[in-house]
Amino acid sequence: MRKHAVAASAAAVLLGISGVCAGSAANATPTGAPVPTDAPRTPKTLVIGVDGASFDVLEQAETPSIHALQQGGLTATSNLPASPMAPTVSGAGWSTIATGVWPDKHRVTDNNFTNPNYAQFPDYLTRIEQAAPQRSTFVVGTWGPISTTVFGSAVDERVQGKNDADTTAKAVERLSTGNPDDVFVHLDEVDGAGHSTGSSSAAYRAALKTADQQIAKIVGAVEQRPDYANEDWLIVVTADHGHTPTGGHGGASRLERKTFVIAKGAEFAAGSTRDDVRIADIAPTVLAHDGIARKTDWELDGEAVNDIVPDDFDALRPKLRGAVDEKGLVGITGWTNEAPEGWTVDNSKMPTGGSTEFRGWTFMTDDFFSNAELGQHRENNVRSRNVFAVADSDEWDDVSPKSSRNFDSTLVTPEYPLNGAATVDISFVSDYAVDDPQGAGVRVSFDEASGLQPQKLVDYPANGTRANPVNQVEHFSYELPRDAKGRLPKSIRLNFSYSGINSAFWAIDQVRVSQPDAPTPDPAAIAVSAPSVAAGSAVTVTGTGFAPGEQLALELHSTPVSLGTATADASGTLSQRVTIPASAPAGAHTLVAKRADGSEVAIPLAITAAPGTGANGSTGSGANGTAAGNGTAAGGSVGSGANGANGATAAGAGTDAQGTAGAKGDGLAVTGASDPAGIVILGAALLALAGVGIAFGTGRARRTAA
Ligand SMILES: [Zn+2]
Repeated sequence: MRKHAVAASAAAVLLGISGVCAGSAANATPTGAPVPTDAPRTPKTLVIGVDGASFDVLEQAETPSIHALQQGGLTATSNLPASPMAPTVSGAGWSTIATGVWPDKHRVTDNNFTNPNYAQFPDYLTRIEQAAPQRSTFVVGTWGPISTTVFGSAVDERVQGKNDADTTAKAVERLSTGNPDDVFVHLDEVDGAGHSTGSSSAAYRAALKTADQQIAKIVGAVEQRPDYANEDWLIVVTADHGHTPTGGHGGASRLERKTFVIAKGAEFAAGSTRDDVRIADIAPTVLAHDGIARKTDWELDGEAVNDIVPDDFDALRPKLRGAVDEKGLVGITGWTNEAPEGWTVDNSKMPTGGSTEFRGWTFMTDDFFSNAELGQHRENNVRSRNVFAVADSDEWDDVSPKSSRNFDSTLVTPEYPLNGAATVDISFVSDYAVDDPQGAGVRVSFDEASGLQPQKLVDYPANGTRANPVNQVEHFSYELPRDAKGRLPKSIRLNFSYSGINSAFWAIDQVRVSQPDAPTPDPAAIAVSAPSVAAGSAVTVTGTGFAPGEQLALELHSTPVSLGTATADASGTLSQRVTIPASAPAGAHTLVAKRADGSEVAIPLAITAAPGTGANGSTGSGANGTAAGNGTAAGGSVGSGANGANGATAAGAGTDAQGTAGAKGDGLAVTGASDPAGIVILGAALLALAGVGIAFGTGRARRTAA
């Protein structure tokens, strides 16, 4: 806290200076004038957790201060996981809220904190202390483990309240007289009321009303802070779980699993709602509010709310329908079999019958999916958001009568255009459960013109007892295959295939395809041993930046005349002596190396008249005047490039003996005539990569950590 006071005064000094500067540009402002209103405000955060608060009851209860936060900010409801990932209990719920990861990472699955993984996944106040130790962090909670266990010892001050009134008083005191930056407050007595009398009781609603009044006091203390105008507060209210109508939690019922994130701050529109925010997003949202850059190796499951990007499945929300065959889902609007735009479902191998809602890949919400039948791992699909895609051979087959036939469906993504980079980054949320034999995997397919066959990206286990061998965000760095000429495909699609006989399911979400930047221009280049050469003489062509072993056809342009071939060595360089045909007309030409992929690397080459007879030379020189050098018999000895062009005129127009060559020369259009002769490497090819080239016949995928 002392450190923070220093930092705050430094900031005040800086603000003062900037105020003076701003003033001097317009009207002079006296020193000590109020800080301009657009000065950056100090980020501050307050998260209030109401243990066991059921959102549905809270909405109906007398909770005006919570409703005011909703009207001023964001409201998002979502479901908790359930067993086997973790029962709906406080240890698991608060750990998810504090750490920003789900229980399969933080490993708190009960209230005994037997084997927490807080060393790898600490609470967000600890992360704030690590990244910005000058910030002042404060925890006060009525439930003991909040201040002793869930939030770690790096937090500046951890205090337990004797009861919610005491917790509230301690929070108000600190906010009123101290200068905390990041505060977590835990209120416990709504949960107590739930246990005593159930969430449908008047006592439970009364406890919510009391908690709401305590929230009013805490938020009021924030708003009455002396420097409140210069502070940028994010205020979050959330809960760790709900309660059954008759009391108790830990199970998978909707009232127990439903929780909420209410967030008021400058970054949230008043009265807004979202369907894609879960409680694991609270910690990253607080860190983002404080300007603390999140690191990839933190492996957080949550996202800062404003960084959550909707996917194609989420666009289906307006099309969601109610139950058709699923008796237990009556009243839940939450599924469609209409694929998003650009996506297709191949059900050509799907038998008829079964549950309509689960026939082939369909698209649904967590409420619809997980409540189809509780206790079968569907509640573990916590990394999906909003609407996701589901292939579920179990639920499809479970309508009476059971078909015991093979579910076999493939979901095909839109065509993703490629940019010329050699790799593609592919990621998707994947929750795969296996019970009996089933098959699942992802194939990459390519644009038809590429002629490339589909390739495996990943296969999933085929056998097991009911378990989730995969429940994570999958990341692949996929190396694209090339065709026989070394060319990359122009586009890809992903094919998610699943089959099984009354086994389990596969849910996927947030399918993302991206690429590194397109490659820099081809570094392949060639050079010639001399900028000009006499027709009929030889010149050495050298090259660098080619693929190892690449075969090149050497030609004289513009009307191509073959000069033979060259082969790059293991380091991609080449050196090949070629002879210019004696018939080549003098003039400016281009020497071209044609690559395996059809692209070209070129360099200008001036060709002078073949060493002629003395007579011809004399004639030429006489006619042209300036082309004296070409006129000598040795004239092949390369006069200057500039004169070479004149020599061409002389050779064509002025000699009898070379007349044939001259006529032919007219047909061989002179290229680059306006270019200055000399060593200018034009050589960057239009397409293809150097270095990797044709070496790869097949694509390869590498799972990457992220
Ligand atoms: Zn409880």
